[in-house]
Amino acid sequence: MRLAFTPEEERFRIEVRDFLASHLPADIRRKVELGQYLERVDHVRWQDILAARGWYAIAWPRQWGGPGWSPIERYLFQQEYGAQACPPLVQFGVNMVGPVIYTHGSDAQKQRFLPRILANRDWWCQGYSEPGAGSDLASLKTSATLKGDRYVVNGQKIWTTWAHWADWMFALVRTARGERPQQGISFLLIDMRSPGVTVRPIRTFDGDSEVNEVFLDNVEVPVDQRVGDEGAGWSYGKFLLEHERFVISGLPRTRRLLARLKELATRMSDGLGGRVIDVPDIASRFADLETQVTALDCTERRYLGTLGEGGTPGHLVSILKIRGTEIEQAVSELAMACFGTQAIPFDVDLLSGRCGEDEALAAEFAAACGPLYFNLRKVSIWGGSNEIQRNILARQVLGL
Ligand SMILES: Cc1cc2nc3c(=O)[nH]c(=O)nc-3n(C[C@H](O)[C@H](O)[C@H](O)COP(=O)(O)OP(=O)(O)OC[C@H]3O[C@@H](n4cnc5c(N)ncnc54)[C@H](O)[C@@H]3O)c2cc1C
Repeated sequence: MRLAFTPEEERFRIEVRDFLASHLPADIRRKVELGQYLERVDHVRWQDILAARGWYAIAWPRQWGGPGWSPIERYLFQQEYGAQACPPLVQFGVNMVGPVIYTHGSDAQKQRFLPRILANRDWWCQGYSEPGAGSDLASLKTSATLKGDRYVVNGQKIWTTWAHWADWMFALVRTARGERPQQGISFLLIDMRSPGVTVRPIRTFDGDSEVNEVFLDNVEVPVDQRVGDEGAGWSYGKFLLEHERFVISGLPRTRRLLARLKELATRMSDGLGGRVIDVPDIASRFADLETQVTALDCTERRYLGTLGEGGTPGHLVSILKIRGTEIEQAVSELAMACFGTQAIPFDVDLLSGRCGEDEALAAEFAAACGPLYFNLRKVSIWGGSNEIQRNILARQVLGL
C-alpha cells in the first residue's frame, strides 16, 4: 500500500480543491453544512457544474466521456469532494446504471443513454427491492412477459429512493423461473412516464420522504430496453452492487462531519462551566472515532491499491461498507450526545443558545442532528444490509 502521493497527484488534488471551492454555489454549500434537505433542483444545478467541467462521471473511462482517472485520482477527488460540503452525488445514473450500460449494454443503448447520463440530463432510480425481496433479492416477483417486441411488466418495487424525481428506473424483473431463484431475472430500463407507473411516497422518521413505493401495472417496456441477455440480469445487478457499496462507505463526508462537530464541541459550554469537548465520555468518543476513520482510510487505500493493479473489489468492499456506515452512524450519535436536548426539536426557533458567538450556526446545525441521526439509520440497511455483508465475509474470508 502506498501512503504518500506523487507531486503530480498533489497538484491534481489542489486543482480539484480550488475548482470545488470556487464553483460550489454558496447557498448549496450552506444547506449541506447545516444538514438541510436538498431539492432536486439543487442536485441538478450542482451536477451540471461538475458535468460542464467533465468531473461528473469520475469513474468512467475516456472512451465513454469520463476523465479516465486512476483509482488514486478518484480517491483524491472524493477526499476533496467530501471535505468541501458538496452535495452527495446522485449515484443511480452515473455510478450505477452507467457502468452497467457501457459494460453490458448494446451499442444502441450506449448511444442512447450514456451521453444523457454524462450530461446530467436524466434522473435514474433503482428498482431492485420489493416487499418480501430485500436481503433475499433473488426472490423478487415483479414479472415481465414478452409480447411481440415489448415486455409487459407487473409488480411492485419498494424503498425506491427518489423515484418521485426520476425519469428512468433500472429494474430487476422476472422473465422466467429457473432451478435457482437467481436464474430468470432480467435487467430492464423503464421510462417512469410510461402508462401504468405509479409512485407513492413513504414518510420516514426524519420527516422526509426520499423513498417510495413504485407500482407497475401492465407497463410496456420495449425489448430493446433490456440490458444484456434475457435471464442474465442477476449478474449485472451484482456487478452494480459492488460499485454501490464502495460509494456508500462515504468516508470523506464522515470525516468532514466529525471535524465540524469537534469544532463546535470545542466552543460549546457543557452548562456546568466547562466545554463539551472536555466531558470525558465525549472526548474519548471523539478520539475513538478519529482513530477509526484513520484506520478505515488505510483500508480504503488498500482497496484502491488492489483496483490499481487490475484486481476486483472482492470482500474489501463489504468491509468498507460495514465499517463506513457504522462510523457514520456513530458520528450522528455523538452529535446527539454533544447537543443534548438542543438536537431534539426540528425547529430552529425552539432552540435556546449555549454556544457563545456561534450560537445561531450551532443551533441550526444542532437542529439538523435529530433528522440526520434518524436518516442515517438507513446506511447499515441499504445496498445490502451490514448483516448480509458479514455473511459475505464469513463465506469469502473465513470459508464458513
Ligand atoms: C433509506 C433506504 C433507501 C433505499 N433505497 C433503495 C433503492 O433506491 N432501491 C432499492 O431497490 N432498494 C432500496 N432500499 C432497500 C434496501 O436495499 C433494503 O432495505 C435492504 O436490502 C434490506 O431489505 P429489507 O428491507 O427487505 O429487509 P429484510 O431483508 O427483511 O431484512 C430485515 C433484517 O433481517 C436481516 N437479515 C435478513 N436476511 C439475513 C440473513 N440471511 N442473515 C442475517 N441477517 C439477515 C437484515 O440484515 C435486516 O436487519 C433502500 C432502503 C432504505 C432503508
